[in-house]
This record gives sequence, C-alpha cells and structure tokens, in this order.
Amino acid sequence: MAEKPLLSVEEAERILSAFPVAVKTETRQLQAAQDRILAQDIRSPFAMPEFDKSAMDGFAYIAADRSPAYRIIETIAAGTPPRLAVTPGHCSRIMTGAMLPAGADRVVKRECTREENGSMTITAEDRNSNIRKKGEDLHAGQLVLAAGEKLRPAQIALLASLGMADVPTARPPRVGILTTGSELVDPGAPLAPGQIYNSNSFSLAAQLRETGAEAVLLGRVADNARATVEAIASGLEKCDVLILSGGVSAGDFDFVPAAMRAAGFALHFEKIAVQPGMPTVFGSRDDKVAFGLPGNPVSTFVIFEIFIKPLLLRLQGHAYRPLVQPAQLASPFHRSHGGRTAFVPVTCREGRAVLVAYHGSAHLHSLSQANALLRVPAGVQDIAAGSTVDVRFI
Ligand code: AMP
Ligand code: MG
Repeated sequence: MAEKPLLSVEEAERILSAFPVAVKTETRQLQAAQDRILAQDIRSPFAMPEFDKSAMDGFAYIAADRSPAYRIIETIAAGTPPRLAVTPGHCSRIMTGAMLPAGADRVVKRECTREENGSMTITAEDRNSNIRKKGEDLHAGQLVLAAGEKLRPAQIALLASLGMADVPTARPPRVGILTTGSELVDPGAPLAPGQIYNSNSFSLAAQLRETGAEAVLLGRVADNARATVEAIASGLEKCDVLILSGGVSAGDFDFVPAAMRAAGFALHFEKIAVQPGMPTVFGSRDDKVAFGLPGNPVSTFVIFEIFIKPLLLRLQGHAYRPLVQPAQLASPFHRSHGGRTAFVPVTCREGRAVLVAYHGSAHLHSLSQANALLRVPAGVQDIAAGSTVDVRFI
C-alpha cells in the first residue's frame, strides 16, 4: 500500500477547521449553564437600569433648589415606588437602588447632610448627582452576549440580571476514549513485569473536561485487530467523537488505522509532519469523527491540544484561538532533525521562555513542569538564545 503523504501542521489544521460540524443545542437552567458555550445571541429585554434610581443612601431633591433646608416628605426604600413628587423646599429620604421620585434630579448622600426636626440641610458639597439613569448601562434590545461565548461567572451574573432562568447552550460533544495497549494497567492495580500505567485515558479525560466536552471512558482494548474493530464499533454508539490512544505506529501490534477503516471510517490523514505525534490519524464516518493518537503520553497530550481541542470547541460553536505569544528564548535550542514542526515544553513567564529538561515524547514529568509549548517551525534545527520565538500556552 502506498504511503500517505506527510501533511504539514498547517494543512492538518486546515482540514480540521474546514471539517463540517453541526452544533447541537440544549436549554439549561442558569446555574447549570456555567462554563457552557452560549448557543444564541442574547439581547437585553429591557433597559438597564430599569428606572432612574439612587446610587446612594441620601436625599432626593431638585438640583437648582438652593433652599437652606428641605422638608423631608417621605422615605423611599429599594423595591417600593415613591408616592410623592418632590417640589422646591422639599426632599425625600432615599436608599441605594430605590426609584427616584418625580421632580427630583439629584441625590445628596447622607454623609453630606444634617437632619433636624424633619428637615435636611446640606452641610458639605457632594460633587456627584448620585443618580443612575434609566438605560445608561443597556438600552432595551441591546446585544449583550454573542452566540459562541463561554458562560463564566460574570456572564451568569449578567443573564440573571436580565431575568433569564433558562439559557440556550451548546450541547457538549460526547467524546469516547478508547485506550489500546496490552501493556497497560489502570492506576490502583499492581504492575507485573513489562507493564506500565495507563496515563492517556486520564490526561485525555482531563483535557476533555477543560474543553467542556463530556468524556466517555470506553476502557482498554488489547492489541488485537478484531477486538479493536469491535471496540470501535461498540464505542461509537456511545459518543459523537472517538479518540483512540496508541496502536497507530508501524509496530507489529499497531492495528488502529486498519481497524478504523474496517469499522467504516474514511481516513482524511494518517501522518502529520509534527513532533511529537507524527502518526496521528483522523477519519470520519457519517456524522462521527475519530482520531487515532500515538500512545506516547506527551504525543497524546500535544496532539489533543493542537488539533483536537479546536474541533471540540467548534462543535460547541466556539471559535477557539489559542493563546500564542512571542517570547525570548532563554537558552539555545537544538534538535538533530529539523524536518517537522516541533512543540517543545517550556515555562514562559514575563516574555521569557525557558526550556524544560525534555527527553522526548514519553517524558510526562517535563510536560508537568511546563506552562507552554515552544513552536519550532519545520526546517529549523537550531534557535539561538535571545531569539524571539512563538510559545503557545497550555
Ligand atoms: P504505541 O503508540 O501504542 O506504539 O505506544 C507508544 C508508547 O506509548 C509505548 O511505550 C506505550 O507503552 C506507551 N503508551 C501507549 N498507550 C499508553 C497509555 N494509555 N498510557 C501511557 N503510555 C502509553
Ligand atoms: Mg501500543
């Protein structure tokens, strides 16, 4: 069989970003909508503030009225409309958030007044009018949140202030994680000689949660062609997107690409010119998509971050832009082959990128120390200390 050509990182990104997806939506109660992606534009149903109101505890009066004292005609609490209009020589005691009475156009805060025998005297200059005008924050019908925005605490607060109890959100994609590898044991069980712990199911599930997707743990399948096809077929019934870890390389026991084909998938790419993670496979069958990721833990992590995360966010209607910033490289970078685009763990603070000791794509400890990935362009083998480089925060 002819070797599939090696795609550049940019070509693979283009294929994924052009891949047609349908965003599914569901209505959530406001509290349960946190961290979801908003599925529709939201317009304010009314003006904000809803009416002219006082911004202070004090006295509402007529700004142009310079009377030596003002007779207090009523007390207006927040939540109760005023009963009386204010006229010259008069004022109403008013609380923060209470509706401004007719006639009044200024509030003097309590700290600038003295009260005696049912009258108020202004004792110090209050430079503010202390009125929040109707509609000064929002006018009725104003677009306040756009579809695709993530609902963080401030957005939840805004929606509550607009009286929304239910929110249209994107339904998170269900993403199945299927781990291949006869050598793998889940944490908690003892290791026999030759075995290692399965970390990829856990890193993928954690990364999925960060994108808002629902992780469906499909367990582990041994390195066996038939078992892999069967596990793909049954796993697909439980998810929209399937991620397989391991079994995509050229080894005697790497069955994933063939098993994906046997399960009916068309493969759109089978190798990317990227380091780590070259043998990454992407395929689709009807409205389902599947990825086969190389099993080395740093490869799995990096490929998810660079290629899968943007797709999962697009499936929720969110146009994700990774945080990529220029930084100054603290020490020289060297690699023995320069053909592929590389992503290398670094710690980046205040514009300075420091290489973390990194022995290759199995070196999880290195990744755990990093907060960003240095992007080394294809063709570049050496980068001098002090050079400006691109880092992508993780
Ligand atoms: P593979 O892609 O299956 O050839 O695996 C490449 C390397 O990654 C091997 O050393 C595997 O033991 C290791 N590996 C595969 N799957 C996992 C996993 N789920 N967790 C940790 N290491 C893994
Ligand atoms: Mg394997």
